[in-house]
Amino acid sequence: IEELHIVGGGMAGSEAAWQAANLGVPVVLHEMRPERGTFAHKTGNLGEMVCSNSFRSDDHEQNAVGLLHWEMKAAGGLIMDTAYRHRLPAGGALAVDRELFAEDITAALSAHPNVRVSYEEVTELPDRGRWIFATGPLTSDALGQSIARATGSDALAFFDAIAPIVHAESIDMDVAWMQSRYDKGETEDERRAYLNCPMDRETYEAFIDALLAADKTEFHEGETAGYFDGCLPIEVMAERGRETLRHGPMKPVGLTNSNDPENKPYAVVQLRRDNALGTLFNIVGFQTKMKYGAQKEVFRMIPGLENARFARLGGIHRNTFLNSPTLLDAGMRLRAQPNVRFAGQITGVEGYVESAAMGLLAGRMAAAEALGTALEPAPQDSAHGALVHHITGGAEAKTFQPMNVNFGLFRPLEGLRGGRKGRRERYKAYTDRAKEAWTGWLEGQAAGAAQTEAAE
Ligand code: FAD
Repeated sequence: IEELHIVGGGMAGSEAAWQAANLGVPVVLHEMRPERGTFAHKTGNLGEMVCSNSFRSDDHEQNAVGLLHWEMKAAGGLIMDTAYRHRLPAGGALAVDRELFAEDITAALSAHPNVRVSYEEVTELPDRGRWIFATGPLTSDALGQSIARATGSDALAFFDAIAPIVHAESIDMDVAWMQSRYDKGETEDERRAYLNCPMDRETYEAFIDALLAADKTEFHEGETAGYFDGCLPIEVMAERGRETLRHGPMKPVGLTNSNDPENKPYAVVQLRRDNALGTLFNIVGFQTKMKYGAQKEVFRMIPGLENARFARLGGIHRNTFLNSPTLLDAGMRLRAQPNVRFAGQITGVEGYVESAAMGLLAGRMAAAEALGTALEPAPQDSAHGALVHHITGGAEAKTFQPMNVNFGLFRPLEGLRGGRKGRRERYKAYTDRAKEAWTGWLEGQAAGAAQTEAAE
């Protein structure tokens, strides 16, 4: 069986190596630490958590991250299994002792008979052999340049400037209206592509005050603000002058409020569709370094967003990631160079759990190729399937930004109550549907493997 090379022993690479090795594929795991470090990693351990020690909510009935936990555990995932063994009390969250966690991940992989860990930096995308690149948000410079040469520099970002994303169903449409600026567009859909929230002068002034006063996050050492020139945080724009936003992302021109046509808004906040399903909208131009709590408070001052629920909040970080919707096929392979697969945060997912989940899928897909067995795509109704479908096909390529798993990525279920009231019932239905689909997918693979073994 041909060796599988995996570059990066973080969340995704460690999980990919574990999955492939357990399926009988020989794996070489290349990790540049401790030889070459990053500004966030502190040790030479595999599976190091760079910041928080939490894998977020463990609620697999009401939370999409908790559902990913459940699915990974059902698939014999190393990251989840190790996390549960080193769990610390943290209410509903899955928090761990980070040192014991990473030491155990390192020990498990180092001891695996099918895994060889090679501590070295890989600086080029190879044109032969079978590879998974899972080098994360802090991919080394040399490798980043090699990837940019293969993908075109427009398709690889070195930082993310994330505008908050809102669940469409939580927006008050008695206040907001759909219209593109100057009604531009060939079709009715295009002329109504944006969702607009009107502000009068008083609200605008209060909003600017709140932006200026809000708690902000500092840049980490080693993250240079120079990256962000073309993409300023809104609070920095507000600092440059109280009217700057009204002449920038909040300009009220070319728009008529269909809920109140006589009243010209003083400023307008625009939201743009963020996925093909139309369940998510991003707030245009609202990348921010405000702390999460402050963001919720400030953004809920926007008329129409008083009860907004956020699929993800805004941020600006050093983050190497691909424009996956254009570059990767459904199997997470580089379309232009299919011997290379990507996994983890570099594919445009966000967070430890999501990254590990994409590692799990990539490891299984690469192993199936190496073994010459067929593997059905992960079911779209599972959390893994919804996420991989989003990054490789469902997301808008033009505005692609890293994404956390959330129920807005799932195909809507018909016949359920909408709004706040039906939420618990809806989420339970999503997670039930996901578990059934995921279990079926895993059972299919187990049955296939048993058949192959019997035939041999
Ligand atoms: P990583 O876990 O970063 O693993 C990538 C590995 O590749 C690293 O071990 C690196 O050393 C190695 N590598 C890089 N280049 C090369 C190369 N050329 N050759 C060989 N090896 C290489 N997520 C959360 O869920 N919670 C948080 O609190 C959080 N805080 C964060 C704080 C910071 C400062 C940053 C940068 C990210 C944070 N994230 C957080 C995101 C988090 O890093 C990722 O979600 C997760 O670690 C990504 O997993 P990964 O496997 O894709 O990358």
